[in-house]
Amino acid sequence: MHKYIIMGAQGCGKGTQSLLLKQTFDLVHISVGDIFRSQIESRTKLGARIRRFVNDGQLVPDEIVEEIVRRRLDEHDWNYGFILDGFPRNRPQAVFFLENYDVDAVIYIEVPHDVVLRRLLSRRLCSQCGLDYNLIFHRPTVAGVCDVCGGELVQRADDTEKAVAARLKDFYAKTEPILELFRQKELVITVDGTQSQQEVHQEVCTRLTRSHARSGPANP
Ligand SMILES: [Zn+2]
Repeated sequence: MHKYIIMGAQGCGKGTQSLLLKQTFDLVHISVGDIFRSQIESRTKLGARIRRFVNDGQLVPDEIVEEIVRRRLDEHDWNYGFILDGFPRNRPQAVFFLENYDVDAVIYIEVPHDVVLRRLLSRRLCSQCGLDYNLIFHRPTVAGVCDVCGGELVQRADDTEKAVAARLKDFYAKTEPILELFRQKELVITVDGTQSQQEVHQEVCTRLTRSHARSGPANP
């Protein structure tokens, strides 16, 4: 059984790493952000509550987030394990998790502030079809023009340098206490996220295998 939490700032490559891990270990990828979106789209009661907070620019309260995680894990469709993404977002949520569940490792993908900032400021969006681009990782063939529909590529309104820097600052302020808590339990595996996606994945796998060996049954 592989039970993992994956963490990292926006733009660290966490989404890609989650998918690679999911394929490698046949895990269920539980993205709390995706659950929020699907609840909002299916217009459930819970979705309506979540939408109110999101629309007001507020964080979804801990009890709602914890309820979502609890319900999702209670489905028990994760025969080989899970990878939890977008949770916990603060120390109380981490405490909740440790009190109710166990986890084999917390994978932290570390990318220096200026690199993440540069990656996020390189994001573009097609103003017509909504396709995502990144001028570092996924350039359009013709600068400023969508490959698919020919629409104009624009920056998201909330991707200004000031807004991105503020989001990152908030992320680090909330994440450091979580990592501290998990470090006390020797659960954190920190991986250098400036490497290529394949290299990051390789390093994650190697380190996880090593940590499994260490935490396995002790020899008499
Ligand atoms: Zn387009």
